[in-house]
Amino acid sequence: MTVSDQEWQAISTNDKTYDDVFWYAVKSTKIFCRPSCPSRLPKRDNVDVYYLKEAPLKDGFRPCKRCQPLNETVSNQVWVKEIDTILETHYSEPLSLRELSYLAHGSESYLRHVYKAETGVTPQQRLMSIRLKKAADMLSHTNRKIAEIAESVGIPNVSYFVQQFKAVYHDTPKKFRESQGR
Ligand SMILES: [Zn+2]
Repeated sequence: MTVSDQEWQAISTNDKTYDDVFWYAVKSTKIFCRPSCPSRLPKRDNVDVYYLKEAPLKDGFRPCKRCQPLNETVSNQVWVKEIDTILETHYSEPLSLRELSYLAHGSESYLRHVYKAETGVTPQQRLMSIRLKKAADMLSHTNRKIAEIAESVGIPNVSYFVQQFKAVYHDTPKKFRESQGR
């Protein structure tokens, strides 16, 4: 159901008195929350309201890690998968840990801690390897300029991009491209 003015007021002010009265689901992130959730306020157009707590699950929404609307913890493994999906989808944007923690509904330090414990790398390291892999694909399969490629994978600073690329692929982007026969 679309959100009423009263419900929107409760969501905007993180009003605890509405917890277990209704739940709200955010269509853009496919996550649902309690009214009191301290996560960033979504756009009102993206919000649907539910009066049965299991109902959002049936519509494909996942419980928020932060406010735990089902009173159950989301397993760390599931959460890490969600974080990976966000990284894969948003790698071309200037994605800070802060922004990532908004999108994944968790605090920055907790997110970093859980991600590292589960995967052995930090979310920033994972993001960098996604970006470099996308760049390597483009170097191999397109004739786009190196600066353009760097920008399109979210690393607009070209010399930083070259430095990071070399550290992983042991070649400059130019030499790497030549070695791929382009
Ligand atoms: Zn929440």
